[in-house]
Amino acid sequence: MVNTVHTTGVFKHKVRWCQCQSAPKKTVQLFQPQLFPASHLQPETAFTFDVLDHFHIDAMECKTAAASFIKKLCRLTNNAFPHVVPNRERELCQVSRQWHDLQSRKWLGFGHDVEKTPQNGNLAHYCPACPQPGINLPDDWNSKSAYHNYRAMNLANLDRKNRDATGIGACACARHGCFVPHTVVDFQKGGRYAFVSKGV
Ligand SMILES: [Zn+2]
Ligand SMILES: [Zn+2]
Repeated sequence: MVNTVHTTGVFKHKVRWCQCQSAPKKTVQLFQPQLFPASHLQPETAFTFDVLDHFHIDAMECKTAAASFIKKLCRLTNNAFPHVVPNRERELCQVSRQWHDLQSRKWLGFGHDVEKTPQNGNLAHYCPACPQPGINLPDDWNSKSAYHNYRAMNLANLDRKNRDATGIGACACARHGCFVPHTVVDFQKGGRYAFVSKGV
């Protein structure tokens, strides 16, 4: 039995694993029909690729937490008795991170078993609209007109006494608002924009 989590709810499915001598691992057998297993040796829960994309967009656009998203799926599965539907919040938290990491690696050239491992900042997207020599600038570009215009952003300032960092700051391009890789810094107690100028 495998609990399958899809955009329309959580369903139990009987799974007959391929037992042939050349059979791939159970995890690979799940990946083939676009199911992402929550564990690797004896998978009992799998998420459809669709629901993982769905959750990512929900989390970004609607600020949906994993717990709320799972509650919604339980409601969709059984509106009268949502508590009898298996709760897969913990698994969603773990799998959605793995899913997003794999996607970033694929997008930024680290997919398909390439030997190189990503270094700091390699999995961050540069602003696609900002000028980058060699990528979206003509060979005879004028360095002055293409100068980056960054501004400091103050993301989440928490004034709590028991925290080491009281917030985070980052630099974003002033025109498009995209964060600049390598510029996210923690605000330590007391310090504020001094750290951001270090980031710039
Ligand atoms: Zn077989
Ligand atoms: Zn930009």
